[in-house]
Amino acid sequence: MNKLFGGIEAGGTKFVCAIGTSPDDLREVARFPTTTPEQTFAQVIKYFQKQAAAGNAIQSLGIASFGPVDVHPESETFGYITSTPKPGWRNADFVGPMKAALQVPVAFDTDVNVAAMGEQTWGAAQGLETFIYLTIGTGIGGGGFMNGKMMHGLLHPEMGHIRIPHDLKKDPYPGCCPFHGDCFEGLASGPAIQARWNMAGNKLPADHPAWLLEAEYLAYALVNYICTMSPQKIILGGGVMDQESLFPLIRLKVKTLLNDYVDAEAIRSQIDQYIVPPALGNQAGVLGAIALAKQI
Ligand code: ZN
Repeated sequence: MNKLFGGIEAGGTKFVCAIGTSPDDLREVARFPTTTPEQTFAQVIKYFQKQAAAGNAIQSLGIASFGPVDVHPESETFGYITSTPKPGWRNADFVGPMKAALQVPVAFDTDVNVAAMGEQTWGAAQGLETFIYLTIGTGIGGGGFMNGKMMHGLLHPEMGHIRIPHDLKKDPYPGCCPFHGDCFEGLASGPAIQARWNMAGNKLPADHPAWLLEAEYLAYALVNYICTMSPQKIILGGGVMDQESLFPLIRLKVKTLLNDYVDAEAIRSQIDQYIVPPALGNQAGVLGAIALAKQI
């Protein structure tokens, strides 16, 4: 019998749990709303225990978590969600309760680093050593791989909170980041779009001026990442990117801003394959969590 692995994609609004070995062998997927840590973890644990009783016992578990999180195994608070503004989740131990209840090894990282691993294993980043995965949704998060390793450092990257140009005459909206106001997330996340235009992004038509402004903010951020990290590819996921008309607008603006300075074929003539949606779609996170579990 095949060894099975468990994956959890833990988001601010929902948790996705799955059991399997690959995109072609994903056996059971379950979704739970994110409520309190106690309640949500209890549902997750019950799901894996029920599956185990039905013959789908997992060998190990991978977790892709919203953050900020502590990803350093030697730290006392490894596996915790740390300074999140989400009520009830500050300093919540995530890995501890999972290990205790399920009695399997647990691997843990940021949602975006793990989604990047999914894309590297089975999706748009196969064979790449340095690339970025960004999610643009309720918040903006970014991670990925640098020289073949998941991006970690002092903590982990916080690509959503970089500063980008904000022309207050053109866009008087002050931004919605509780920490920084008009950082990248404050200006370009889903809630920022909704607050600026008084309408949810998924209700705004493709030709609404909101998207040109959104593409501009995304392009500013991407150009900063291209110049600092030299990624071989940039993958853009998250609910806001469901507006597919954003991709050509972003690519064009990135080229304009770089102004032929970064002399690479990928940008010069193949930018359609350089700034892309996740090949695994909205399953990048949970499949990445399974890929992470397989590495334990
Ligand atoms: Zn911020």
